[in-house]
Amino acid sequence: MTTSENQSPVAVPQPVVDSAREASRITVLTGAGMSAESGIATFRDAQSGLWKDFDPKDLASPEGWLADSDLVWGWYRWRAELVRRSEPNAGHVALAQWQARAHVDIATQNVDDLHERAGATVLAHVHGSLFEPYCSDCGTRAQFDGAADAPAEADQRVPPPECPLCGGLIRPGAVWFGESLPEAAWEAAEDAVRTADLVLVVGTSGVVYPFAGLPAIARSAGATVVEINPVETELSDMADHRWRTTAATGLPALVAQL
Ligand SMILES: [Zn+2]
Repeated sequence: MTTSENQSPVAVPQPVVDSAREASRITVLTGAGMSAESGIATFRDAQSGLWKDFDPKDLASPEGWLADSDLVWGWYRWRAELVRRSEPNAGHVALAQWQARAHVDIATQNVDDLHERAGATVLAHVHGSLFEPYCSDCGTRAQFDGAADAPAEADQRVPPPECPLCGGLIRPGAVWFGESLPEAAWEAAEDAVRTADLVLVVGTSGVVYPFAGLPAIARSAGATVVEINPVETELSDMADHRWRTTAATGLPALVAQL
């Protein structure tokens, strides 16, 4: 057996290659697994590791914000700094390359900016962004001023800045437990799965709604749904094809074959 230089060592399931070649509109839904190989820890990891001393409700809920906004702001600045120090992985890069050649919409649950830093355009940050803080009173978007006040420790309190327009506190741009999703982002994501021929579901566990409902909307609108995930998820049953691989391994192999 010989292998040519540009032959991918990762075997891409043929039905996945075929549906990607045939599709004229592709929507990619990405979750925490997309960024895991860039070293971004998730809330799920947090329960056992990095943030085990925190109750997520204290850090990511309107009640937690009201109770201790300095703790919440400090924690989000610390998280943003971890993201700033991490790099997009080969999966992020592959999606950016695919976007240059085809109609590929990306809707993500991730609050990091790794898709963008890989050169991709994100249609919808359905759960908000670490880098788009806004005023908790008037809603005006605030500038993200880099790592200016990033604390060294996760539990270091940092007073949030004040809104230049109304004096309200600037809050993190991530969607919290108990909050509804940003309407424009959600509508864009819903439209994208309704109009797609192919929907790839990458690295999402499928337990957080309403995002986890998008593959079902895609199915009922007639799209082919492909799951890319190293493990079985709540969404596996509804996928037309399940490919047990990671984002950083599978996506470059797929895009190389198109
Ligand atoms: Zn304001």
